[in-house]
Amino acid sequence: MCRMSESSNVAARLRARIRASGPVTVETFMEESATAYYATAEPLGARGDFITAPEVSQVFGELVGLWAAVVWQNMGAPAVVHMVELGPGRGTLMNDLLRATLVVPAFAKALKIHLVETSPRLTALQRQRLCSSGFPLAWHARFEDVPYGPLLVVGNEFLDSLPIRQFERTADGWRERLVGLAADGKTFCFVPGLINARPPLPASVRDEALVGAIAEGGTAVQNCITAVATRLVSYGGAALFIDYGTAVSAVGDSLQAVRHHAYHPLLGAPGETDMTAHVDFAAAIATASQSGTRIYGPVSQGKWLCRLGILTRAECLLAQARSGPQAQAVVAGVQRLIDDTAMGSLFKVLGLTHPNLLSLPGFDRTG
Ligand code: SAH
Repeated sequence: MCRMSESSNVAARLRARIRASGPVTVETFMEESATAYYATAEPLGARGDFITAPEVSQVFGELVGLWAAVVWQNMGAPAVVHMVELGPGRGTLMNDLLRATLVVPAFAKALKIHLVETSPRLTALQRQRLCSSGFPLAWHARFEDVPYGPLLVVGNEFLDSLPIRQFERTADGWRERLVGLAADGKTFCFVPGLINARPPLPASVRDEALVGAIAEGGTAVQNCITAVATRLVSYGGAALFIDYGTAVSAVGDSLQAVRHHAYHPLLGAPGETDMTAHVDFAAAIATASQSGTRIYGPVSQGKWLCRLGILTRAECLLAQARSGPQAQAVVAGVQRLIDDTAMGSLFKVLGLTHPNLLSLPGFDRTG
């Protein structure tokens, strides 16, 4: 009930805005849709719209927890470290991460947990999930509100949910792709915007794209990377961004809408579908470099998890499995995370650190 009324409100609001002042950017459409979607929908899990790595297997969050413990030791084991998760969904990654840190008691004792989340509904779910963990927990609507100090940051499938802008290379130059209304006055459709001589796109894409190409850019991902990188350089620590995307900037229309584990018409139901775009890791790296962080990767998720010992952890879980189906679930989950035909290579891991951190678990010097 709530889901329908909130999402139809979004569609009605967007239509009214377009009628009053003309087509909106893809960024505005995506942002309005995402706010309503995460506020009301059941996005994650088998009964939701999509599934993420921590929801696939507990091993994912556990390995991120052990990664964090090693990084903390390499940071000189500060007495207090802020562990920040961006977009924590149902709190599954943090729950598994915190359990894993108990094997390094001094690290567990140093941790202050910060969850950066805009959805009140998901915040309530995370609270429910984590309140008995015994760790000090705090929620923030923006990363910038996390207190200053040494920090460890993780964002899994966070960057892909941030809004993007799209541009089309036409015969007379780049035009922003906008969302307007079809002749029926109701159906959302793409319409070309004005010529933009310097669209915010990587130079290689801007200068070399052929007529007809679509390219993606925008400020939300870059602002997030800059905010995290600046903190790392000032206070020490490391960040992990795990997401699907490309290692090299390229043209392409990666915007997608998903509902009940299937693709949905892109502009068909704002507020009712999960709208995401592939992350341009090269652009993220270019932004992070400007803040002076050390950069690791991106490396494929499969390779990163194998380097952290996912297969050894899976063997332990298999030895503890109480039934055939339980053992099969362990194997299927791990395979899904690391297999190149599943999440293993489309998903990538980018590490950013203070310049003094000369190694990062799961990455070699060249990623
Ligand atoms: N990391 C989780 C969930 C990914 S879904 C997992 O891997 O399962 C994206 C998450 O980011 C949701 O929790 C959503 O509410 C949150 N989110 C989306 N946009 C956000 C923003 N601008 N600021 C903070 N959180 C945001």
